[in-house]
Amino acid sequence: MPSTLFTPDARMAPYWWDHVPRPQLPERALPATADVVVVGSGYTGLHAALQTARAGRHTVVVDAEDAGWGCSTRNGGQVSTSVKPSLAVLARRHGAERAREILREGQRSLAWLGEFIAAEGIDCDFGVVGRFHAAHNAVQFDALVRAAQSQPAGLEVPVQIVPRSEQRRELGTDAYWGGVVYLHHASVDPARYHQGLLQRVQAAGAEVAARCPVTRLQPEDGGVRVTTARGEIRARQVVVATNGYTGALTPWLQRRVIPIGSYVIATEPLPAGLMDELMPSQRIVSDTRKVVFYYRPSPDRTRILFGGRVSVSETDPALSGPLLHADLVALFPALRDVRISHSWCGFVAYTFDELAHLGRRDGIHYAMGYCGSGVGMGSYLGMRIGQQVLGLPDGRTAFDGLSFQTRPLYTGKPWFLAPSIRYYRWRDRRNV
Ligand SMILES: Cc1cc2nc3c(=O)[nH]c(=O)nc-3n(C[C@H](O)[C@H](O)[C@H](O)COP(=O)(O)OP(=O)(O)OC[C@H]3O[C@@H](n4cnc5c(N)ncnc54)[C@H](O)[C@@H]3O)c2cc1C
Repeated sequence: MPSTLFTPDARMAPYWWDHVPRPQLPERALPATADVVVVGSGYTGLHAALQTARAGRHTVVVDAEDAGWGCSTRNGGQVSTSVKPSLAVLARRHGAERAREILREGQRSLAWLGEFIAAEGIDCDFGVVGRFHAAHNAVQFDALVRAAQSQPAGLEVPVQIVPRSEQRRELGTDAYWGGVVYLHHASVDPARYHQGLLQRVQAAGAEVAARCPVTRLQPEDGGVRVTTARGEIRARQVVVATNGYTGALTPWLQRRVIPIGSYVIATEPLPAGLMDELMPSQRIVSDTRKVVFYYRPSPDRTRILFGGRVSVSETDPALSGPLLHADLVALFPALRDVRISHSWCGFVAYTFDELAHLGRRDGIHYAMGYCGSGVGMGSYLGMRIGQQVLGLPDGRTAFDGLSFQTRPLYTGKPWFLAPSIRYYRWRDRRNV
């Protein structure tokens, strides 16, 4: 371990995996045929599979790694409305009514996830705790207040403005210029949620094959021939749910998603009383930087989980850990001597229009591109794409039929990422 900032037993793996180790699934032979094959066992894939398996379709979920190995057990567990572009931007691109429908889908995804977890009785520390969105300068605070006070009619959400003078009610730092609390936003233990979902998918009769990369998808009469490292399956329908890990298996999709690493550390347990001083409530936190920091207390309030993007190109968690620690200490100097117990990363999928996309191409269904906010939206659109596979009218979404854009010469390797991050960092440092 290169740095004394790490505890001697620090793990370069998600904190969540301490409590929910990766599931050891039995390595059974794959069936020769299936009604539905789902590629990817994160929230998107499992929700699609839950729909099709519960509707009686023989469903097989296949993952290249352990079940849930991707972002779905690595994330920060922050659940928001998940749509990044504003109403004005969406209206310019898609018309006023479609724009509203897209934003409503974001609100629905948040509400629906809470309802789903409650209805299924999944024990995963889900709570509507609210998100404190902190302004990193005065200009951004004014913009947050303006937005909170002029919410579009029919799309209003409960928001609380927190001026800088009252900020310590939310966070033990003066590094921000105030902020707003989105009261409906929620937090969850992402791995326990995934575990509960996986159990329900298996209970519904779906087979889940881990450590079994899919290497070829070949449309043919009546379905798709799915080639995997452990043999072939002839599937009537296929769902691709690979998000930030989308690769050469689906070149058309690979040209449309931009994989970006996101990095997180967990601190060792804090000294008594410090958590209540720094994070008096269980709220999740993010800030207005374009290269955002997102953080929260662990569900048991012993540690802080702090995430962000610390390097212009992808790096190793052993290197990103100390960089994140420096950013954490800049916000909370009292954490200077608190060490890192876990450091990890995962790949989210951005898109060129900053919207998620789902649809069907060459007979293959897909849902992906959550732009870093897929806990709610990935779950929701996974459920919807499952309904679309079943041909149900309920499967319709406001995202259907949106053009899924790429750019000339882009093949899935984002050469433009480093210059973009440098530019955004420069902007974050200026008062804009
Ligand atoms: C560090 C981090 C923090 C985040 N924090 C938040 C947050 O706080 N809130 C939020 O809303 N979102 C957050 N996200 C994003 C969120 O976790 C994702 O959007 C969401 O989990 C995507 O789920 P998914 O099922 O679509 O993809 P994933 O969970 O990434 O699953 C994709 C799976 O596809 C598999 N796969 C790929 N190729 C193949 C193949 N050829 N054959 C078989 N399997 C294949 C992979 O092995 C992987 O398991 C974060 C992400 C990261 C990395």
